[in-house]
Amino acid sequence: MSKAPKTPATSPEVKPKTQPMFERIALIGIGLIGSSISHAARRAGLAGEIVGSARTPATVETAMHLGLIEQGFVSASEAVEEADLVILCTPVGLCGPIAKEISRSLKPGAILTDVGSVKAAIVKDVAPHVPEGVHFIAGHPIAGTEQSGPESGFAELFDGRWCILTPEPTADEKAVEKLRKFWEALGSKVEIMTPEHHDLVLAITSHVPHLIAYNIVNTAAHLERVTDSEVIKFSAGGFRDFTRIAASDPTMWRDVFLNNKDAVLDMLGRFTEDLTELQRAIRFGDGDKLHRLFTDARAVRRNIIQAGQDTAAPNFGRSPSATSKTKPT
Ligand code: NAP
Repeated sequence: MSKAPKTPATSPEVKPKTQPMFERIALIGIGLIGSSISHAARRAGLAGEIVGSARTPATVETAMHLGLIEQGFVSASEAVEEADLVILCTPVGLCGPIAKEISRSLKPGAILTDVGSVKAAIVKDVAPHVPEGVHFIAGHPIAGTEQSGPESGFAELFDGRWCILTPEPTADEKAVEKLRKFWEALGSKVEIMTPEHHDLVLAITSHVPHLIAYNIVNTAAHLERVTDSEVIKFSAGGFRDFTRIAASDPTMWRDVFLNNKDAVLDMLGRFTEDLTELQRAIRFGDGDKLHRLFTDARAVRRNIIQAGQDTAAPNFGRSPSATSKTKPT
């Protein structure tokens, strides 16, 4: 298959004033992250042209209509032809199969990267399909929302957020540097680490918190002595924030847990031990211990605000009627 019908872009295209960093960027997957990359790349004038592919023709057409891509394809192989930067923006479990599919169509010298929330499994699945002369550098922007699809993206998503790159030790230094500059131009701060370390860090900062959110929302939903309508009617800040996290895309998160099994199980073990300590303190009325543990946790929140990764405004900067747009993932 081939090109989706071209429709006029609704958002004005920002033409790069100087030579763009990449002549052609191909986005494979145009959901929240793919569309945000398109918005931010256009804002910074980083691409001569942005093309893309998705699983369904409807998404490709929406992306064309929104002006996110100049050309749309349902075939990923066709989308990557002539691209000098290819970004896999699909759920984690698809990166390997898509790398296999596009392998023969990648342009020599191109940079191939991804945005998946897990790194070691992606490197293992993608690397064997990368042809000689193509530079594969895995990546993960630590920025997101609970929304999905091409309409959900926005140019500011990556502003001030970290993007982690996990190049192999043999990766071409110039290509790594170029990709670092690309993410910086999208608004991110960039850090480089191994895929395994990334997975351990993200297990505790993102993956386990999402699992806890999914679990607490389901626990509340399955209670017998408190009705569903009471849970909704009396939902206080804490529970509401968990429901927001638990509204995240089920396919994306299924793939995260299937592909970061060891690190998540490791961190869940630590979490369970600490939860048992809290449980004991409550059972034995150990107020001093509870106070000390809560004080320690409060200090972490202050550090996050000082590091500029969240706002100190009450209710996380949200007015009662407004919804928050960004959350770290
Ligand atoms: P999303 O909004 O659900 O978009 C996923 C995109 O992948 C859709 O365009 C979908 O196309 C496409 N896709 C699915 N199967 C495909 C296939 N076989 N071939 C080509 N395209 C296919 O997801 P997202 O939130 O952007 O997440 C994408 C990646 O970013 C994931 O790996 C996730 O781990 C990572 N990430 C997410 C966040 C976050 O907060 N959401 C943050 C950082 C990183 P259709 O619409 O046609 O199905």
